[in-house]
This record gives sequence, structure tokens and C-alpha cells, in this order.
Amino acid sequence: MANTRRLPKHARSFVGIPKRRPAWAGIIIACGLVLFPLSALADGEPSSGRVGADSNIEEAIVLAGETIYPGEKKELRLPTSESFIGANVDTPLVVIRGKEPGPVLCLVAGIHGDELNGTEIVREIMDTHGAGDIRGTLIGVPIANLFGFINQSRYLPDRRDLNRFFPGNEHGSTASRIARRFWDVLRNCTHLIDFHTGSLHRSNVPQVRGDLRNEEILDLSRAFGARVIVQNPGPQGTLRRTATDHGIAAILYEAGESMRFQKEEIRKGVLGVRNAMVHLGMREGRRVDLGTQRVYRRTRWVRAEHGGIIEIYPVLGESISEGDILGVISDPLRRDKDILVSRVSGQIIGMVLSPMVIPGMAVLHVGLDDQSLDASGMGMEVLDSDRPE
Ligand SMILES: [Zn+2]
Repeated sequence: MANTRRLPKHARSFVGIPKRRPAWAGIIIACGLVLFPLSALADGEPSSGRVGADSNIEEAIVLAGETIYPGEKKELRLPTSESFIGANVDTPLVVIRGKEPGPVLCLVAGIHGDELNGTEIVREIMDTHGAGDIRGTLIGVPIANLFGFINQSRYLPDRRDLNRFFPGNEHGSTASRIARRFWDVLRNCTHLIDFHTGSLHRSNVPQVRGDLRNEEILDLSRAFGARVIVQNPGPQGTLRRTATDHGIAAILYEAGESMRFQKEEIRKGVLGVRNAMVHLGMREGRRVDLGTQRVYRRTRWVRAEHGGIIEIYPVLGESISEGDILGVISDPLRRDKDILVSRVSGQIIGMVLSPMVIPGMAVLHVGLDDQSLDASGMGMEVLDSDRPE
């Protein structure tokens, strides 16, 4: 067992290093999870018929062995896994319950452990709200993938992507088990916002994604206020797709790049969550206008046709037209130039940051100008925009 004496107290509890607790203590915690999976919050299994339904339960709820009453704010540790040294890996989460019943809004960041902007958004929201400030319940998870966060990686130690394993299985793979632990909490949300950034060496313009064919999700997306909204239900196994399939109005806020805190992306995310809370009647105040919104029903990746060093001309968020020169790929001595010409018109909503490319590598993500599409045309193309390779 590692020597933990030098660790500060808060670090010890953060990684969940056990304080030599007896074996029966784990059993009690496990029973607490099984017997009281937040079931008091919403009545039974959410169905597609109750997207966004209010929770009208006013009594105490029990989560991760802790009882939370209306009017209380509590910090909890959700047992999610164990480390290679046998220590508990308990995920910090915050629950805020207003005195009045209302929606159960869940904020989940860091499912990809290297995507940090969302972590700061959730920290800010949970830190600046108390039980007296809200109606309904707010559940915040600042870092869902603790393993990835500690390793500065998108993935879990088994190289699996946690965001492809929801709703999970308690007897399945590591990713599946962890997903299940979260799902036992998150299945009881009425609304959910999942926070992401571009994957490694990619950046995304601040945008909201969701299954916009669902009116409640479209309304929530618009209320959030991001200037770019993308029709994208997400691949199977993602949290937002699973939540939506279970009747939860789920959206994803995607902004910036991995491994850093970006002030503007974070600011827009915090304002967006507050906007969503005002929209849901959870918070007093008025929505902040973040600018003209564009809804993209289809997107396309522009890919490199040749290997080499790429120089990209447009910037993130810029509009492009068919025939525009988007960049040049050349060899290390600037010879054998290949000009990248756009075959589409639209707005650049994501781009590669690394100058090194090989054939087929995704370079630019474009929201397509396509006014001819109506709502019935949405969702035909399911793109794995989180991970375009
Ligand atoms: Zn992500």
C-alpha cells in the first residue's frame, strides 16, 4: 500500500484512499446505492413520454449513502471504481435541492478526462448556487472520468472511451461498470447537460449538440444560447444518446480544446447553464443573449488528401463557400503543394490544431448551409463528431 501520510487531507479524500475502513463498510455503501438510487426524485423508470417532467417529490432522497433533504446542499463521493493500488476511486459530486420541487438538472463534465473547460463550468455553477437560489434539484459532476483526469487522457486505463458505454453493466468491462455507477444516478434527471471540448489537437467553436427532432431538446438548446446548434443525437453508448432514449432532455455543450481552461468558452458555458436554468424555471432572472443562433442539421468533415504539413487559412467560426481555398499541404521543404479547396458552403465549427496530417485525417468540421432541409431531414446522418477518425 502506498504511503499516504504526506498527502494533504483533501487530496486523500479526493482520490478516495481508504482510511482502513472495515470490509462491512463497503457493503453498506454498495447496499445504499442499490436500494436508494435517487429513486425518490422521479417516479420509476423515465419514459419517452415524460421528457423534462418535473419532480414533485418533496421528501428526502438518498444518494451514495447520504440523505439529502429539500433546502440542502451536499457534497458526496460516489464509489465508481478502484485503483491499481486497491484504493477506492470515489467521484466527487454536488447535489443542491431547492425547497420547492422542480426539474432535476444534471451537469456532467470530464467524461473524457482531458476535456477540462466543462469541469470549470460545473465547478463555477455548483459553487455559486445554494439551495435558496434554485427550484428543483441540481446535480453536478465536475470530473466523471477520474482515471482520465489523473492521467491527462481522454480514455480509461483500459483504453476504452467511457462515453461509448452508457447505460453500462455492473458485470461488464471497466468502462461499462463505471458507466453503470453514473447511470444509476443520472437516469433520474429530467434534464442533462454533458460538457466536452474538441479531442486531442482539435478545437471546437462553442456549440450545443443534441437530438433536435425532440422539441424539448430543441427548446433547451436554443435557451442555452450558444450561437451554433448542431443536430447530432450522438453515437450509441454516449451519455446524451442514452439519456435522450430514456426520456431525459439531454444536450451537449462542446467548446474549445482539451487540456486547458479557456476563459471565453467557460464564460459562455456558465452563462448558457444559467440561461437553461431560467428557461426551466429553476432560477430567477433573465436569459443573457449570446448572439444570433444558427442551427446546423448536417455537418461534414473536410479531410486531407495527402500527407504533409498543413497551413489552414480560415479561422474557427468563419463562414466558407464552395470553391474557397481552405489551406495548403506541403512537404517539409514547402514543395509538392496540395491546395485544399472547399466543396461545401457553411461555417467552420471545428478544426485540427496540429500542422501534421496524413491522407484521410479530419482537418475542418463544417456546419453545412442547407436551407432546403426541413425538420424531417434531421438526424439521417449520425456523425461521431467527438472523434472523427
Ligand atoms: Zn469529449
